[in-house]
Amino acid sequence: MAKTRAKLAGSTGQKATATGKGRIASKAKPTGRAGQALEVGHDAAGLRARLLSWYGANRRDLPWRRTKDPYAIWISEIMLQQTRVAVVVERYQAFLGRFPSLQSLACAQEEEVLAVWSGLGYYRRARMMLKAARLMTEQQRSNLPAGAEELRKLPGIGAYTAAAIASIAFGETVAVVDGNVERVLSRLQGWGFADGQSEAALTRKIEELAGRLLDPAQPGDFNQAMMELGATVCLPRNPQCLVCPLATDCRTKGEHAMAKRAPMVSREAAHALAVRKGRHDGREVLLEQRPATLTVMPGLWQLPELRQSDVPEGELRMTVRHAIMQVNYSVRIRTVVEGDVEALTLAGGERRWVPLGEAAGMALTGLARKVLTRAQLLTEATADAIALRNGGDVG
Ligand code: SF4
Repeated sequence: MAKTRAKLAGSTGQKATATGKGRIASKAKPTGRAGQALEVGHDAAGLRARLLSWYGANRRDLPWRRTKDPYAIWISEIMLQQTRVAVVVERYQAFLGRFPSLQSLACAQEEEVLAVWSGLGYYRRARMMLKAARLMTEQQRSNLPAGAEELRKLPGIGAYTAAAIASIAFGETVAVVDGNVERVLSRLQGWGFADGQSEAALTRKIEELAGRLLDPAQPGDFNQAMMELGATVCLPRNPQCLVCPLATDCRTKGEHAMAKRAPMVSREAAHALAVRKGRHDGREVLLEQRPATLTVMPGLWQLPELRQSDVPEGELRMTVRHAIMQVNYSVRIRTVVEGDVEALTLAGGERRWVPLGEAAGMALTGLARKVLTRAQLLTEATADAIALRNGGDVG
């Protein structure tokens, strides 16, 4: 499943997002008469009309498309970076239920925000959001500033996130280019790496074209329509050209030559699943907090790591596949009784025996949450109950 947000690094003085990857923003330079300055060779007004009409009829009903609240759009845009739409749909409403306004987010403890963010990965995004929310409330703001320029001054908001918020929430004429839009425009024009041009040169051309194609009357809808077309029709593999509203404008009508991506690396890991009867009631699981000094997932709670990655067949509880950035992990999970914990696990950060009901509301690593859920120790019902207890709307 394609991640939704972006791969290009900015090339015309615009920097990539906090994640190092991102969409590009490009100020619109509307053409004079429709079609004049566009290389697509077709009239721009017709292309805009076809795309917007298709979007009106086919767009997915996603919760963040039912609001113009800049705060809610900001939350959705940050979540959508590097995370699948299906996962964001699940987490977006719970997050807004718990933190419905800029003020409520700014007042929250980091641990609390990370717990509600749990499952979305790339926790730096949540920390930067909290930092930005606190900064805005210090500046006496009740919501995000209007305009891409001002938005870009906030922590964690790069050029493309600023452009997305500015165009969708405030109607600013600034084009957004994510990996999806880049693909659509490259194919429309018949551009690709086979032409021998550098990635930077291609990026510049796409960015400039995006700015010229943007509909100045409906920039937010146009940006979303382009991204939607790339996400649902002009797919990386097997694009659905027969149902594409831009087929008459397109010079490729199929896949195009793309830059080679860094290959995924495979690694193995092994963790302990230690569960005991609780002191008072129910069961407790042993969790370990990752040191704050780590660059990856600092402060999150994980299952203790085993000394030996080889787990005897009879001791194997499950094997889980888990991807973190460019690494595909095959993780063996071994059930460990309390008395064997010290002998079998590596000393890591601070450890705690945590009641299962409490674990659901903690800032767990994605892997820990996956294992506990799969072991039926952390059911969705428990997670929902915690969210509701905290004031969340999980609907
Ligand atoms: S015609 Fe095909 S390749 Fe061209 S934009 Fe549409 S889906 Fe993409």
